[in-house]
Amino acid sequence: MSDRSEGTAPFPAHLVREDLRDFAGYSSARTSAPGVPASIWLNANESGEASSADPGGANRRYPDPQPPALVEAFADLWATTPGRVVVGRGSDEIIELLVRTLCRPGGDGVVVAPPTFGMYAVSARLHGVPVHEVPQVDDGVRFTVDTGALATRARETGARIVFVASPGNPTGTVVPLRDLAALVEAVADRAVVVVDEAYGEYAEQRSAVALLEEHPTLVVLRTLSKAHGVAGARIGIGLAHPDLATVLRRVQAPYPVPVPVARLGLEALAPAALEATRRRVLQTLRLRDVVVRRLREVPGVRAVYATDANFLLVRSDDPGALLHTLASAGIVVRDLRHQPGLHDALRITVGTADEMTALDTALRETTA
Ligand SMILES: *Cc1c(COP(=O)(O)O)cnc(C)c1O
Repeated sequence: MSDRSEGTAPFPAHLVREDLRDFAGYSSARTSAPGVPASIWLNANESGEASSADPGGANRRYPDPQPPALVEAFADLWATTPGRVVVGRGSDEIIELLVRTLCRPGGDGVVVAPPTFGMYAVSARLHGVPVHEVPQVDDGVRFTVDTGALATRARETGARIVFVASPGNPTGTVVPLRDLAALVEAVADRAVVVVDEAYGEYAEQRSAVALLEEHPTLVVLRTLSKAHGVAGARIGIGLAHPDLATVLRRVQAPYPVPVPVARLGLEALAPAALEATRRRVLQTLRLRDVVVRRLREVPGVRAVYATDANFLLVRSDDPGALLHTLASAGIVVRDLRHQPGLHDALRITVGTADEMTALDTALRETTA
């Protein structure tokens, strides 16, 4: 599924691990099928009959590694081409694929901007790859990613990947598109820039997908786990140059998208479901504004950070007491105190209206 016909600049092949450049991957039952219509499949040792747990037999056979209908639905949603889409078991899997594809085991490196999503460093560590940190700038009300410093660090260290979450987690703020484009340009000859838009649906800024055509070394991550409401299905997407997407699919496990998961994913991308998702996002943004105002009145809360996502980063004089008060009401929030620079911070997800009412009630205890 190469999209070379669209005339994009080539992906710089030297960024792929040398030993994987001509790696063909596992030849699965579905990918090795010939182009002629087949009616009798005796090539994958599946059962000839359906399971009683699956009377229709929908799950009897190994799935297509990249279900075409799902891939096309994603391409439509983000106005790109199917050749750029890699579907994975959550964007977590795409992060891991990128590390394994671009970094030599035990070598090269990745650059991250803490506080940030933990899986970038986890995937790197599991592959023995050094993690270089460029802390975000904290002015007390907002975190800012220093994209210039990220580029410098990537060049100094010879890192192969720069990970940027936009909106960030747990920081909440977006990185301006022009800064992202400048970062991609600044390191284009030596590193891939991965822009993780797990919370993109909540942000006003356009998606970095708009930059893909012009920037072969940009990768954008999206997920169905947050605004789309199907975290349990584990569906994440990498959008990349078609040549890089091809290598990522070869590195990926043979059948990453289970049949029931592909079906659920397609249903989540149907027009009515997308419209409902947009309405839920607007509702979340309205609730978020209310919760921000409420939190600012809570004694001991020093800062509620600017956010473009569905959560709030809160600093408190006594975060332990706040955690305890909420826990006593059965409310679990994310304790961030173990993270550098966040020793007094919690992250609170904006949930349903009822959940936010319960939060409000619990916060009254603090006020009393
Ligand atoms: C939640 C989250 C993810 C995980 O997405 P999955 O698709 O569920 O694996 C990725 N990146 C960030 C920044 C997140 O907060």
